[in-house]
Amino acid sequence: MLLFPHMEFVEALQTRFGNKFKEQEILAKHVNFRIGGPARYFVEAVSSQDIVDAVALAKQFAEPWFILGGGSNTLVADAGFAGLVIKAANRQMKIDGPRVIAEAGVISAAVARASAQAGLRGFEWAISLPGTIGGAVRGNAGCFGGEMKDNVESVRVLHDGVVKTLLPAEIQFAYRDSVFKHSGNDDVVLDVTLLLKPGDAAEAISALEKNLAGRKASQPLGSSSAGCMFKNFEYTSDTDITELAGQHPVPPEMLARHRLAAGWIIDQLGLKGTRIGDAMVSETHGNFLVNKGAATADQIVQLISLIKMKVRDEAGIELHEEVQHLGF
Ligand SMILES: Cc1cc2nc3c(=O)[nH]c(=O)nc-3n(C[C@H](O)[C@H](O)[C@H](O)COP(=O)(O)OP(=O)(O)OC[C@H]3O[C@@H](n4cnc5c(N)ncnc54)[C@H](O)[C@@H]3O)c2cc1C
Repeated sequence: MLLFPHMEFVEALQTRFGNKFKEQEILAKHVNFRIGGPARYFVEAVSSQDIVDAVALAKQFAEPWFILGGGSNTLVADAGFAGLVIKAANRQMKIDGPRVIAEAGVISAAVARASAQAGLRGFEWAISLPGTIGGAVRGNAGCFGGEMKDNVESVRVLHDGVVKTLLPAEIQFAYRDSVFKHSGNDDVVLDVTLLLKPGDAAEAISALEKNLAGRKASQPLGSSSAGCMFKNFEYTSDTDITELAGQHPVPPEMLARHRLAAGWIIDQLGLKGTRIGDAMVSETHGNFLVNKGAATADQIVQLISLIKMKVRDEAGIELHEEVQHLGF
């Protein structure tokens, strides 16, 4: 039995990670929302082996742990997280013919730019996607008609202490979902292999610029947020949306896809601009909750509840969060 487990854990982390290990690291600095208290233990993992070793130590000392990518889809509690946060900062990338192999900590936009510059087509959609490629795989991130599932050939993960390769069928990609989000799964993505199409670099770069411009026009890019707070609402039968459709004409493209944009629903119910303290529903995009300066996680959570209640009561629709919560 360990007599002073906290001290021994700290000692083990210090020995293995040196100055890449910190105690009481404020997480607000590491997430887009700029909200959240400290991680009791924090390691910046600059290689895939660092991630493997950090997870192994947390398990050995029975400490809770959390893998953080770019923090663009995470809401951290005001009290922080009483465990080990492992920040994926493994950032090696190589291009081999039509394949791009990127470690989990590489920023998705950097992968998009490098691929386009190498004349590889198909990943231009990710140029304006915040966060890491590891986080993007987990949530099957997507925009501008592209999704991770369209590009991933395989993923190397840490699974129960063993490194293994998963193919798309095993990853079970679905709308903003993958096996990594399923309950009980604590696999960590170590690196990703994308299979792209050889093409013209100039055309690829011009597609990047077009996507960037599209993003600037539609989202509050300068604000601190976590992107879309809620998943879009997928429905099977028209009766699922009778209440809402009776009062607000649903755009034909949403009807065709059987998927209502959560931002559109929030907008229809007049919730844009709703504010609790410094937490506000963006005026530009109804599905973005923004931190106007000094918002707390508590205020964001209250705003989430208010939106969900109003959407349930007035539209008969249950919204589900897309953003990951840490420390609640
Ligand atoms: C302004 C803005 C715009 C956005 N637009 C979009 C958009 O258009 N489309 C879209 O899909 N998303 C969008 N997002 C959300 C976000 O960018 C994506 O979900 C992104 O892929 C998350 O990556 P991340 O590294 O920041 O994840 P984080 O926030 O760091 O983590 C999110 C979750 O992924 C897990 N995770 C992170 N790395 C790994 C890993 N290596 N292995 C296993 N699990 C891991 C974390 O534990 C956590 O549960 C937007 C966000 C912002 C702030």
